[in-house]
Amino acid sequence: MNMISAYSLTHQNWKDLFSSCGVSQHVLPFWLKGLYKDSRIWERHISKELVTDLNAQLDFTLPEISSAQISQDGTAKFLIRFRDQLEVETVLIPFHKRFTICLSTQVGCGMNCSFCYTGTQGLKRNLSAGEIVGQYIVATKWFKEKNPEALNPNIVFMGQGEPLHNLNEVKKAIEVLNDTQILDIGQRQMTLSTVGYLPGLKKLADFPKINFALSLHSPFEEERKKLIPITEKYPLRDVMEAFDEHQARRKQIITFEYLLIKNLNMTDAHVQGLSELLGHRQAILNLIPFNPFPGSEWERPDESAIENFKAKCVEKKLRVMVRTTKGSDILAACGQLKVNKLARNNGVH
Ligand code: SF4
Repeated sequence: MNMISAYSLTHQNWKDLFSSCGVSQHVLPFWLKGLYKDSRIWERHISKELVTDLNAQLDFTLPEISSAQISQDGTAKFLIRFRDQLEVETVLIPFHKRFTICLSTQVGCGMNCSFCYTGTQGLKRNLSAGEIVGQYIVATKWFKEKNPEALNPNIVFMGQGEPLHNLNEVKKAIEVLNDTQILDIGQRQMTLSTVGYLPGLKKLADFPKINFALSLHSPFEEERKKLIPITEKYPLRDVMEAFDEHQARRKQIITFEYLLIKNLNMTDAHVQGLSELLGHRQAILNLIPFNPFPGSEWERPDESAIENFKAKCVEKKLRVMVRTTKGSDILAACGQLKVNKLARNNGVH
């Protein structure tokens, strides 16, 4: 029988568990500090009986870092192995003292996007909340050992997998990461990126108040179908409607991610299409130069084409950012994550 992961429990879950075990709530802060920061604190504050009792009820196993590659720009790409030996990639992108961690939510992915290396892998399974939090813990520990002054990271759910296709476990992981008594990562420090998985988008009313991003990549339905096949089932207009409803509830700005692909989606018609789609919405357009991967059919545009496209979008009064590519030399950039038996190369949204 699979035991519940200790890393999937919120503070309230721990309180309930301590009550059911008849243990004083005063012990809980020491217990959590020992579990997440430094287990030496247990020597003075936690009885051996409690440790034994909880060990019998919960799984305390963390995933392992089976390899770490460091890019020339300092980006770290980890291969993280779980109990069943399946692996995902987790990417850590340093920006001075602040850094961003890109977490995976599934082993592989079933969405089959044509611009993404992960999509060629197929879906193996969902990650549990404990495994998602576990990725964060082991990668952050690795980084903080080298950078003790580093602040809490921002988190992006943009690694392998479609997060809304694994909504319940992702939601639970966010609650643990956000819990002020546990990891205390602010909701606004977390961003979930989706390719428009509508069944998940319709459930956002109950979701924590984190930031959301849509992988858009084309304002045109037919072209988007080629890039993101689930557009066939979940049309862009329905996806936009779901985001509009979400914005009406939460007043949040949505980021629209737009891969810049040479000879595909960078014409004046695309600029006009983006203007019509986003001009009247609270939106940030995040332009991401395509990162080629082995066997990809698309190419990256040159810098002048990127600048030109950006300038035309700005002319249309869109709020535009260009994402700096990090980690492409180790296949850690957006869309490059993949794990397989032969080649341990990574990728994502
Ligand atoms: S872009 Fe995201 S949703 Fe699409 S195949 Fe890659 S990981 Fe899956």
